[in-house]
Amino acid sequence: MEITNVGVRLVTGTSDRLKAFCTITIDDSFVVRDLKVVDGPNGLFVAMPSRKRTQRCPRCSHKNEVRARYCNECAAELPPERGDRTHDGKPASHTDIAHPINSECRELIQRCVLEAYDREAEEFQTPVSTHGEEEPPTTTPPPPSPPSPPSPTTTTRPSPSAPPGDDDAFGAGIL
Ligand SMILES: [Zn+2]
Repeated sequence: MEITNVGVRLVTGTSDRLKAFCTITIDDSFVVRDLKVVDGPNGLFVAMPSRKRTQRCPRCSHKNEVRARYCNECAAELPPERGDRTHDGKPASHTDIAHPINSECRELIQRCVLEAYDREAEEFQTPVSTHGEEEPPTTTPPPPSPPSPPSPTTTTRPSPSAPPGDDDAFGAGIL
């Protein structure tokens, strides 16, 4: 199996642990969306696409979160949920939609996704770090940017950081 393409959409402007959404293509044939790059206690890791689990109220059929004890709609007491459990014995709140079933595959996906994420994150940071300034305080998040547009403006963009060549250029156009 080969990961033939990885798309990365950075999540910026928040201090959240969620860093990016990713889409992978397997063997040029099968696409899986909504993988997440998450900043965990042991560093970045890749979370598989998942959905919130629900259970239906036996009285009114309203869909409730699996950890709810009473129905949100009719307040009936809900029976204990018998599905997946987390390590501490509580019902798992989310379930994976697609996931690897061996560590070899998990590591392959993780490696490909994190490499693509690193490239994307580096590219994103390059324009704001040219002067080596301090990072802005976390209370003023950078403005959200559109997802990696092509950059047709590179040839027309003025370069304010370019110093004047010599004394001849002094006062030529800079006031
Ligand atoms: Zn109900």
